[in-house]
Amino acid sequence: MDNHLKEVLEIVKAQAGVRTMTEDEIASMIQTLSKGIRSVNDALPAEEAEAVSEIDASRAIKEKTITCVECGRTFKLLTKKHLASHGLTPDEYRAKCGYKKGAPLVCKALQRERRKTMKEMKLWERRGAKKG
Ligand SMILES: [Zn+2]
Repeated sequence: MDNHLKEVLEIVKAQAGVRTMTEDEIASMIQTLSKGIRSVNDALPAEEAEAVSEIDASRAIKEKTITCVECGRTFKLLTKKHLASHGLTPDEYRAKCGYKKGAPLVCKALQRERRKTMKEMKLWERRGAKKG
């Protein structure tokens, strides 16, 4: 986290302590303030890599996409191969993001689809067992 962002967060924290703010209000306030502070410090180069490290892992998994917290790109699912390109195994990636062990690295829609398929497979197994 760079110093500008810290400054911004301090201001926002102070505001949030005074009145109740919604998540949206806080987010837009951070955006407005950081823009203002950044324009004052125009001479400093923007650091893209830092922006990426600010991705909230708990929000990386959305309905149709999963965001790689390493590079900020969005996918339907994070493959072993992609994680390997960052030098990480899926387990290391989960640990890094604070995900549960064995948590699926796929978007929500795909997670649901997989669960449905598993259910159907189990039903078929049961049917098969009845027939003997
Ligand atoms: Zn990546």
